[in-house]
Amino acid sequence: MEQEWTLRYVKPVLDFASLPTIAHVDQVHRLFAPLAYASQFGVRAAPVLKTLEPGEEAAYLHDRDQVRAWLATLRTGKAAARQRVQAEVERMMAGTVELRGHARFSDGMMAIDYAPVLDGVQACIAFGMALLADDRSQHWRGVMTCQLPGCGNYFMRIGASRQLFCCTQHRQRAADKQRGRGRGRV
Ligand SMILES: [Zn+2]
Repeated sequence: MEQEWTLRYVKPVLDFASLPTIAHVDQVHRLFAPLAYASQFGVRAAPVLKTLEPGEEAAYLHDRDQVRAWLATLRTGKAAARQRVQAEVERMMAGTVELRGHARFSDGMMAIDYAPVLDGVQACIAFGMALLADDRSQHWRGVMTCQLPGCGNYFMRIGASRQLFCCTQHRQRAADKQRGRGRGRV
């Protein structure tokens, strides 16, 4: 359940980092729009994703490169480097992510629930990266790149999964190649 929740926020960020090019800003908006809806909280209306205009793709390319650099740093596993990522992600969150909450009684106990309001691409990136960079859950350990030559897409391994490829098609293609090579040797 917790993993499902995490993946909801992390997967769009990994898919964003995997974009080989950004020909149109809508490629990015399509990835993150569902998060804006998912961050609907309580009775208030869901935020609408703030978007850039066509022609402003360079700004998203810059963000993508930043995410790739952060992922590369996290994957080194070095604590000091991870702290730098945490500080940068924290700054990005402070400027973009609003937390919305409410207090209520649950079985007579006062409970405060909060949720992030992700109404912009940078807010989505910042919150997803924060989940990955967290020392307690260590989700950064699950971030992999597809082993099919020429792919390199980012994906997240779940639990004890040994997944090596970003999707079943790429796993199949790699297996076909392997078989092809095997036959070639005979
Ligand atoms: Zn792949």
